[in-house]
Amino acid sequence: MRFTRLLLARVMPSVVKNFDYLVLGGGSGGIASARRAAEFGVKVAVVEQSRWGGTCVNVGCVPKKVMFNTAMHAEMMKHYKDYGFDVQYKGFDWGVIKKSRDAYIKRLNAIYETNLGKSKVETLDGKATFTDDGCVEVNGQKYSADHILVATGGHPFIPNIPGAEHGISSDGFFELEKLPKKVVVIGAGYIAVELAGIFNALGSDTSIMIRYDKVLRTFDSMVSDTVTANMEHDGVKVIRRTQTTSVRKEDNGTLTLETTGGQITDVDCLLFAIGRNPSTQGLNLEKQGVKLDSKGHIIVDTFQNTDNKNIYALGDVCGKALLTPVAIAAGRRLAHRLFNNESDLKLDYDNIATVVFSHPPTGTIGLTEEEARTKHGDDKIKVYSSVFTPMYYAVAEEKHKCSMKLICLLPEEKVIGLHMVGQGVDEMLQGFAVAIKMGATKKEFDNTVAIHPTSAEELVTMR
Ligand code: FAD
Ligand code: NDP
Repeated sequence: MRFTRLLLARVMPSVVKNFDYLVLGGGSGGIASARRAAEFGVKVAVVEQSRWGGTCVNVGCVPKKVMFNTAMHAEMMKHYKDYGFDVQYKGFDWGVIKKSRDAYIKRLNAIYETNLGKSKVETLDGKATFTDDGCVEVNGQKYSADHILVATGGHPFIPNIPGAEHGISSDGFFELEKLPKKVVVIGAGYIAVELAGIFNALGSDTSIMIRYDKVLRTFDSMVSDTVTANMEHDGVKVIRRTQTTSVRKEDNGTLTLETTGGQITDVDCLLFAIGRNPSTQGLNLEKQGVKLDSKGHIIVDTFQNTDNKNIYALGDVCGKALLTPVAIAAGRRLAHRLFNNESDLKLDYDNIATVVFSHPPTGTIGLTEEEARTKHGDDKIKVYSSVFTPMYYAVAEEKHKCSMKLICLLPEEKVIGLHMVGQGVDEMLQGFAVAIKMGATKKEFDNTVAIHPTSAEELVTMR
């Protein structure tokens, strides 16, 4: 009897602390929500099992953008001569940028943790799991809370093929100590396009293996056509309609891939970028009555409510618009709704602008032409498009065109989609996203006097 009681006491620790708001996951969404909640004077804690800042800071947007910027230098170097610079290129040292990138991320980890402290949010290091009675256990300690947010994000999906363990994911990309000579990237989405572009610009012999004919297949056809063509123009080998069936590591350390299109040998780096899975395993969510979809994403309503009235979820773990600003915006709105009496506040998931850091970059918001025609009918849609050579390339031997497309809804020609691929569109999109979110029409675009000479002026002068 005494033994049973002792055992129970160990298996079911008693609650050590109660919070108003307990956030699982110290990534983009969790940190933003926790800090905003603390501003409203509530008692908040965040649990993080790994490095503060989550995917974006550690193995996502931030280190990726550093590498994109690195690749941009490699690309611009090709134009130095045309611009009159006599610069002797002596080589690229991956180790230099990796060292400074890692140091930058370390600084950010510390800043994120310090900022939580400054906001009076308690930090708990460890893996969180729900207990059967609706509390949360971290490192054997039990915590209760009136409101619990699950913002545990996701992780890369690795296919179940023999030898897959010899490949890496985007997480592994950030651990590479040197630039691989020969790379095969498998996948056709954001990560595959971005990382293949970086490898290629920095000098790897780069292939991208896709299941269909184009990358970014779910984007507007102008985007998928243009980005695929640009990759090939830049020297990336696009291996179409092919899948890898097994991977073998050779004695010399290189990989041999058996694919539906034949064998690929001497591969130094195989990178899988075929989507991400939600991090919901081991949380014991089912016992809380929280419903998951077939892929393990948490099912929420438009207010980020799960099926348990005290548990909420947002960000990548919900599988909708896997973007940092989406997780942050949803997290902040939830904090306002729960702790500042703004009961109607929720994130509007329509018209979210997004950039793929392709080479050159892609910017997109709203409906694709295909979606717009299906939704509103061909007779209600007017499309404006333009393809031109940005002035930057006027004196350069190499040319990269800029492509733009506006999708307008008749009769007032409200702009319901904007898609661009070209130099500088990544920085161009945000302002236009404001206009589109406000319901701007083509006439209002045209009433805006252009800024000359820029590529952006094309967006207010398209005919
Ligand atoms: P995360 O940031 O993933 O945070 C979840 C946190 O929860 C993690 O730190 C994890 O360790 C922790 N956790 C998980 N389980 C537990 C547990 N049981 N207990 C305690 N802690 C737990 N988005 C953009 O907007 N722009 C970009 O340029 C961009 N580039 C990207 C590049 C790459 C290579 C990748 C992979 C992603 C990129 N993203 C980008 C997407 C962006 O990183 C995610 O959308 C964003 O990080 C999601 O935030 P989140 O809070 O939902 O999850
Ligand atoms: P994505 O969902 O963007 O793309 C994965 C693609 O891989 C699929 O669209 C699919 O394309 C292809 N694919 C799926 N399964 C297989 C398979 N078994 N074999 C070969 N190809 C396959 O996922 P990512 O991993 O690229 O990125 C995850 C998310 O992270 C993105 O959706 C995005 O929201 C976010 N992200 C955002 C970035 C940004 O904002 N710049 C950058 C990076 C990530 P198909 O059907 O054509 O084969």
